[in-house]
Formats: sequence, C-alpha cells, structure tokens
Amino acid sequence: MSDTPFLQAISVAKTYPGSQTSGLKTTDLTITQGKITAIIGESGSGKSTLLKLLYGLLSPDSGEVRFKGERVWGPNEKLIPGHDAMKMVAQQTDDLNLYAKVWDNIAIMLPSTDLKAKTEKTENILKQLRLTNLAGKQVANLSGGEKQRLAIARAIIVNPEILLLDEPFNQVDTSFREGLQHDIRQIVKDTGLTVIIVSHDPAEVLSMADELLVLKDGEILESGNPKTMYQNPANLYTARLLTNCTVLTRDEAKACGLKTRAEHVVIYPEWIETVKTWTNNDWEIKQVLFKGCYEDLLLEHKGITIRVLNDQFGKYTEGTRINLKLHRWLEY
Ligand code: ADP
Ligand code: MG
Repeated sequence: MSDTPFLQAISVAKTYPGSQTSGLKTTDLTITQGKITAIIGESGSGKSTLLKLLYGLLSPDSGEVRFKGERVWGPNEKLIPGHDAMKMVAQQTDDLNLYAKVWDNIAIMLPSTDLKAKTEKTENILKQLRLTNLAGKQVANLSGGEKQRLAIARAIIVNPEILLLDEPFNQVDTSFREGLQHDIRQIVKDTGLTVIIVSHDPAEVLSMADELLVLKDGEILESGNPKTMYQNPANLYTARLLTNCTVLTRDEAKACGLKTRAEHVVIYPEWIETVKTWTNNDWEIKQVLFKGCYEDLLLEHKGITIRVLNDQFGKYTEGTRINLKLHRWLEY
C-alpha cells in the first residue's frame, strides 16, 4: 500500500472572473478511497466549485489537485475537461438520448469490440441500479428519478474510480431518493468506488456519508464523521445545516432558565421532553406540525419559539400549555 493520498487538493483556490468574492478560498483536503465523502453547505458556499476543481472541470487560480499523486489538469491544459478516471453526475441529465431506449443509452458507453461483454455489463448495471424493467423504455418517457438512475448507470458502467455527484437527487421524490441512496451505498461497498456527493439535504448526507465536509463562504469550516459532527458540531452554522434546531440568544436562553455565557444556545428538537406538571406550564403549543412518523411542536413562551420533536401522536393540541425538560444543549 502506498502512502500517496488518493485524491488531494493542495492549497487550491478559485475566484471567478469579474467576481469580488471567491468561489473557493485556499483549500486543502484529502479524499479517502472507497468511501462516500459528502460536501454540505448553504447555496453559494462553493460546493460545486470545489467539485469541479477536483474533477478538472475548472482550473484553480493557485494550488493543484492531485489524483494518486498525479496532477489533475483543468480545461486550460486539457482538451477534454474532466479527469478520465472520474465521472460526474449533476442535477440536469442533458446528455441522455431521449429518443433512444434505456438499454442503448447505457450500452453506447461501452466499446463494441466485445459484444458479449458489452451485453453482460449492460445487464449488470441495469440490475445494480434497478433499471432492468425499464431497459426497453424510451428515455423521454422516464420520470425524473428514473433519468437520474440512468445517468448514474451511464457514469459507473465505464468503471470510474471516482463518482462525483452534484445535488443529483434534488428533483427526485423522497421515496425514490432513499432507494437510490441505498443503491449507491451498496455499489460503493461492492465495488470500492469512491463517491463525492454535494448536497444541502441533511438527511441525505447523514445517511450516506462516511466523511462530511462543511463549506461556508468558500471555506471548509469543519470535517469529520457525520454522526460525531451531528452530535457535536464545532460551529453554529453546521448545527443549523444538519438539523432544524432552535437557536437562542444569551438573553433568550436566560429567559428560558438556562444560564450561559455563550452568545448562542442551540437545542435540537429531540433534546427536549414535554411534560405536564402542576405548576410552571409556561410553554404554549402554538403549532403541531405533522411530519409523517413524528410531529414537530412549536412552543412559545415570552416571545421565544422552541421546536420540539414529539412521537406521541395526538397527545398535544394547539393552545395547550406544558412544561419542558431540557436534556442537552450546545453553546456557541
Ligand atoms: P454552491 O454550489 O455551493 O451553491 P458555487 O460553487 O456554485 O456554490 O458558487 C460559489 C460562489 O461562486 C457563489 O458566490 C457563486 O455566485 C459564485 N460563482 C459560481 N459560478 C460562477 C461563475 N461562473 N461566475 C461568477 N461567479 C460564480
Ligand atoms: Mg452548486
């Protein structure tokens, strides 16, 4: 085993022509082989810029990207942009041939020198991405989610070492999305494929990623294991990205009975217990938001609103007053 990092950005920076702010400030990072790395950040934080730099779709102003120790060349140096060992799938699936069948869209990615191998491989990929039943269907008649599956099938049939995904599931409905996420995880497990996925959906990155990178204003704010980061984000920004939490100022926290010196207190919905006591039922239930398998309660007290997760359906109705037990909070 060599010590050479798999994919590495070394002091990479990029500012777009005519733009005051950086697309990406000077960034160093290493991507681990055979893992799913997720990049999360607000819109405009530089996620797509970083992805394009890693792939060689953009040339950095300074620094360099290295894949297995070798320089990844950008469009300034390379005729056909994009590293040959990588494939990228974005939201729009423009390069599909809408008038051809699913099968042909995939098979065309392979050389015709060995027709038997071509057929076998196409069949395999169709199976892996659960497209077998759609093989004979014209692409124009597929749903958005099915087109995304097809785009991913086309990307991985050529055995790339890295699959880059730029918010690929945005147009895909939730149930479809989960299936696709699961299938990609399975492919990573089975084949050792390395995946880098950009997303702003916390559920997606938390369920998919082995490694999570948080981007803010063109900078990596923090990185690490998604579960650890969810429980203890180093930054308020990260907490806000990863969960629908309540953020209180120091004064608001004090009004809720929390003594703190921190500027902000963050409370996750699952860290609060609702209780009915004889006295001090200070919080009024303003809204009960049905979320499918749970409810979000929006509680108000002294003009402060707190979000609480509730799994006891129908227990609470709007207008009821209750007391709260706080199990945990974070300070920033
Ligand atoms: P994200 O993918 O996180 O939404 P981007 O990487 O697309 O963010 O963009 C990062 C920043 O760079 C944003 O401020 C965006 O407006 C700017 N930017 C992106 N592409 C261009 C471009 N082609 N020309 C000028 N500015 C751009
Ligand atoms: Mg983007």
